[in-house]
Amino acid sequence: MISFYPGPSRVYDGVPRWTVEAYRTGILSMNHRSEEFMALVKGTTTMLQKKLRVPKDYTVLFVSSATECWEIIAQSLINHESLHVYNGAFGEKWFRYTQKLVPGSRAQVFDFQKPLDPGALVVQQAEVLCLTQNETSNGTALTTALLKKIRSRFPEPIIAVDATSSMGGVDLDFRQADVWFASVQKCFGLPAGLALLICSPRAVAVADRMGRSNHYNSLPFQFEMMRKHQTTHTPNVLGIYLLSRSLAASPAIRETHAMIRKRSADWVRFMEKHESLSLLITHAVARSETVLTVSAPPGMLPKLKAAAKKKGLLLGEGYGDWKASTFRIANFPAHKPSEIRKLKEFLITWKP
Ligand SMILES: *Cc1c(COP(=O)(O)O)cnc(C)c1O
Repeated sequence: MISFYPGPSRVYDGVPRWTVEAYRTGILSMNHRSEEFMALVKGTTTMLQKKLRVPKDYTVLFVSSATECWEIIAQSLINHESLHVYNGAFGEKWFRYTQKLVPGSRAQVFDFQKPLDPGALVVQQAEVLCLTQNETSNGTALTTALLKKIRSRFPEPIIAVDATSSMGGVDLDFRQADVWFASVQKCFGLPAGLALLICSPRAVAVADRMGRSNHYNSLPFQFEMMRKHQTTHTPNVLGIYLLSRSLAASPAIRETHAMIRKRSADWVRFMEKHESLSLLITHAVARSETVLTVSAPPGMLPKLKAAAKKKGLLLGEGYGDWKASTFRIANFPAHKPSEIRKLKEFLITWKP
């Protein structure tokens, strides 16, 4: 089965080989206070700097999920108020979880068919501005140019960016925000259970100044441990190893992004020509390059998905409000040209 689900999704072919390697070389039993572990963390961080252009002065933390990152931000960086700007289900979830810990957090919902207008943001006293760079539920994204505008317009608040379904596939400009996070079961092409939380020097300073210490994963604890290349808990050591191996085998992010962009443009042309399918997101600037949301006529969808499955092609379900009328296709780096061709062939030839 080839998974085009936008996460968990297809994993890299190297995963079985690297896993056996991890077993043979003792990585699976590695102590997380050992010299070897510290070297693995250091090496993986260096690889992230080299391959993804993570700035050297940013701190990389290894946690377990994007959901955990939402909670870490809420309990370590917000005293009274955050502003959540979103147009889909993941941005909303982040807001709902934060609101449980910080009742003063606010939401500003924008039209998913239009690019976000930075001039319309009502930031006021928000200490953290929460943005979803790639909204996996509906296939929209915020461009680097837009993030740049938001940063220069609002220099005060910490800007936190959920890049779960783009990091590893899109060339992100980390300087345009203070906190970035992603789990690895999407664009990184790896099994679930590991996430990266990447913090600017300013985010580190703010969290240390706030000094929260009421959670095992409170940021000051994590920063203190990471200064020695360690974690507050026994982390997903295999996940970190797989990440370091897959990054070592990957080209630089600019090259990967160029490939993703080209494949995305090919998909757009494909859908424009297709007689019964169309893209949900009509405005090109608002559209994600890594997650395509495809509208299909009502009634056709269940049959299409079932027929695809029979062919060994797993399509992503529509999400939330779009469940009944759309399906999603992941455009992640681990997908092979031959697999994409197979899916396109199926979508052209299949008749209800
Ligand atoms: C998948 C996803 C999440 C949740 O990731 P977990 O690793 O399951 O916590 C959060 N945000 C976005 C944008 C996602 O695509």
